[in-house]
Amino acid sequence: MKKKNNLKVKEDYLQKIKLINKYNKYYYSDSKPLVDDGTYDKIKHEILNLEKEYSFLKSNYSPSLSVGFKPSKNFKKVDHKIPMLSLGNAFDKNDLINFEKKIANFLSLKKSQKIEYSAEPKIDGISASLLYQDGIFVQGLSRGDGIQGEDITENLRTIKDIPANLNGNDFPSEIDIRGEVFINNLDFEKIKNKFANPRNAASGSLRQKDPMETKKIPLNFIAYTFGYSKKLNVVTQDEFLKKLKLWGFKINKFNKIICGIDNLINNHKKIEAQRKEINFDLDGLVYKVNDLNLQKRLGFAASSPRWAIAHKFSANKSISEIVKIEIQVGRTGALTPVAKIKPVNIGGVLVSNATLHNEDEIDRKDIREGDTVTVERAGDVIPHVVSVDKKNAPKIQKNLFFQKIVLHVDLKQ
Ligand code: NAD
Repeated sequence: MKKKNNLKVKEDYLQKIKLINKYNKYYYSDSKPLVDDGTYDKIKHEILNLEKEYSFLKSNYSPSLSVGFKPSKNFKKVDHKIPMLSLGNAFDKNDLINFEKKIANFLSLKKSQKIEYSAEPKIDGISASLLYQDGIFVQGLSRGDGIQGEDITENLRTIKDIPANLNGNDFPSEIDIRGEVFINNLDFEKIKNKFANPRNAASGSLRQKDPMETKKIPLNFIAYTFGYSKKLNVVTQDEFLKKLKLWGFKINKFNKIICGIDNLINNHKKIEAQRKEINFDLDGLVYKVNDLNLQKRLGFAASSPRWAIAHKFSANKSISEIVKIEIQVGRTGALTPVAKIKPVNIGGVLVSNATLHNEDEIDRKDIREGDTVTVERAGDVIPHVVSVDKKNAPKIQKNLFFQKIVLHVDLKQ
């Protein structure tokens, strides 16, 4: 009886692995996701839970062991000298407490020893590794499956933020500079019909076979870490970020050094609220142990470093601002007020409209143009405004009296 159950469990597990690898191919290799991130993450979670529950379940293609997707045949494959891994995820305070506990245990730290983190916005683009020899950019790779990347040197050369030569002379004779290639929200607007979100747009544009095609899309690069390096004279991540700036890279102006879980959470809330004003897409924050020696001691687990974690924003809610309220007429003639909001990425889908349901709902919540609102998008449900933050409302707001009259008159017709 037990054997049969185990067989069924294995079958279910392998089916889920097959499905997730299909999603990986569409997402990483073709830059055209088949499902939203919530659906993807749910299956991933189910696989990880099955592995926890049934220790006999194992697959090299499991998301617990693998990163990204194998390099495309369109490019030469090159081994990364140091693997380019993914990041573990944290969604709430408990996850962060566990992350810190594990670090403290691994390093046998005393209770009084505080861990300092470099808290960096997690730009939702794709990572690239740039090899500089004697300060000259010689080769650029995509992450690929983390072990082997795609040689996309010529495509990367079209990005203005990637220096052909490093500034000064205070750099290692050989170093892999790693960072994120991404597209600004305004530029994404122009090509949004072709891609689900800015990350897919950056990935699709960067991994074109013809670099002249990449050149047509204004891509950006922000540097944040290194892979292999010969003699690097820095002792903290923070110091390394400052060096990157001196060498001629852009770094994120929202990077901060933070101690303590509550302070990490406050910063997370602040950046989440600022997200609508930042002109590129963020999907969370990355916390890295600041001391590079501690990072070295902590090392790596199968698919992510032990010294870093991604504190994600919610996959079904986000904060934005109402730019305009419009009345839409449905196919059946029904009238629905719709909020045009500053575009925001909710679980991998860029949302720019949210339904306000009806006039009563607008009255009840006193929703106005210019309001800061929380928008929810879950499953196939149309995104809707769940709450209004009146504390951050502009002083002078347009009264919706006129629009209400239109709605009223139309409803009476
Ligand atoms: P990830 O995107 O969650 O985190 C790792 C990446 O963070 C790094 O590779 C790097 O590119 C990026 N990053 C940005 N800023 C950084 C910084 N300051 N420091 C370090 N790294 C930084 O991990 P992943 O494995 O690349 O992707 C998993 C995500 O992709 C999940 O959210 C998942 O939902 C989504 N996904 C979706 C589908 C789908 O079909 N919808 C398929 C695959 C993956």
